[in-house]
Amino acid sequence: MSRFRNAEARVDLGAIRDNVAALRDRTSAEVMAVVKADGYGHGLMQSALAAMTGGATWLGTALVEEALALRAVQSPLSRLRILTWLSGPGERWGDAIRADIDVSASAVWAVEEIAAAARDVDIPARLHLKADTGLSRGGAPAADWADLVDAARKAEADGVLRVVGLWSHLAYADAPGHPTIARQAEAFLSAVETAERVGVRAEVRHLANSAATLTSPEHHFDLVRPGIAVYGLSPVPDVGGPADFGLRPAMTLSGRLVLVKRVPAGSGVSYGHTYVTDRETTVGLLPLGYADGIPRNAGNVGPLLAAGHRRTIAGRVCMDQVVVDLGDDPAAPGDEVVLFGTGEDGGPTAQDWAEATGTISYEIVSRIGPRVPRVYAGETVLAPAPAEVEQ
Ligand SMILES: *Cc1c(COP(=O)(O)O)cnc(C)c1O
Repeated sequence: MSRFRNAEARVDLGAIRDNVAALRDRTSAEVMAVVKADGYGHGLMQSALAAMTGGATWLGTALVEEALALRAVQSPLSRLRILTWLSGPGERWGDAIRADIDVSASAVWAVEEIAAAARDVDIPARLHLKADTGLSRGGAPAADWADLVDAARKAEADGVLRVVGLWSHLAYADAPGHPTIARQAEAFLSAVETAERVGVRAEVRHLANSAATLTSPEHHFDLVRPGIAVYGLSPVPDVGGPADFGLRPAMTLSGRLVLVKRVPAGSGVSYGHTYVTDRETTVGLLPLGYADGIPRNAGNVGPLLAAGHRRTIAGRVCMDQVVVDLGDDPAAPGDEVVLFGTGEDGGPTAQDWAEATGTISYEIVSRIGPRVPRVYAGETVLAPAPAEVEQ
C-alpha cells in the first residue's frame, strides 16, 4: 500500500496489455488505444506504454495537452501515431504539429487555424476530418461537410496539411443492433464518398469505440478507437461482462481500515445518521471519500469487500472517509478493504459500483482523484521503473 495514504488504486499494466491484444485479435483494423482523462484514471503514460506493448499502433486523446504530455518525454511511444480531437479556437496547433500529433477539424475555422499554424511552424499538419453522422456532438453536420472538405482540400493544395483521416463517432454503439448504428455508418460512408470524390485520399477511416469494436465488426473500417475495453471494463454490460470479451479489469481500488471499534446497538453512523446499527457491532473507518471520486450517492449502497464479506458502505459518504459495519467479524486497523477490482476474489467490480450508484463504469474509474496514489503492478516490458510511477 502507498507510502502516503492508506488507500491506493492498483493498476495491472499486464491487464491493459492483454486487453489490447485481445481487442487486436478481434479486428483486422489498427487499434488506437484511447488514453484521455489520464487513461480513464489509470495513468496516461503507463496506460499508453502498456497499450503499445499489447499492440496498439495509435493513441487517442481528447485534449491537445494530453497528447503533448505523451510526447513530452523520450519514450518508445514516439513510434505511435497520436490523434487528439477536442480542440477549440486558439488551440496550441503549432505545438501539436511540431510534436507529430494528428489533429482533427469539425469546422472550417479549425481547418483555417490549423493551416495557419502549420505555415508558421513550417511543417505540414496531419488532419482528420470529423463528420457528425448523428451524435450531434463533435463533427461537421451533413450540410457543412462539403465546405469542410473543400477548405481542407485547398489547404492540402497549398501544401500546409494532409488529410489523413476521415472519422465519426456513434451514439448507440452500446446497444448492438440499434437502428441508428447502421444509419450512422451509412451517413459516414456517404461523407467518405463526398471527400474521395474531390480527391481526399485518407489513410484511415474510423468510427468504432469499444462497444462497436466488440460487437459491430462490420464497422471497424481501418482503425478502431477502444477506450473503456482497454482498461478491462465492458462497454455493453447488458450483453456481456469483461470475461465474455476476453478482458480483465485493470484497476483495483482499495483502502486500509484506519480505525476499528465496537459501538452499541442504536448508534447513528456518519452524517445525518442515515444508517443506524441494529445491534452492538464493529465499525471500521476507511479513508476514501467523495473528494477521492467515491460517488456521494454510494451511501448505504456502495459495495465493498471487508473482513471477508461483501458489504455496503454504512451511512453517508464523507469528503475523505466512509464507515463500514463489520458485524462481529474480526478486523483490525490496517486490514485491507477492496472497493472494486477484477471481481475474482468475490469482491465488487467497477460495474457493480456503477449499478449501485446509477452511472457507468467509465465514471467510476475516471473520477478516482489525484489524491489516490496509483500503484503499478503486472509485467509489461516497457513499464517505467516503479520508482518513477509510484507517486
Ligand atoms: C472516448 C472516446 C472513444 C472511446 O470510447 P469508449 O466507449 O471508451 O471505447 C472513442 N472515440 C471518441 C471520439 C471518444 O471521445
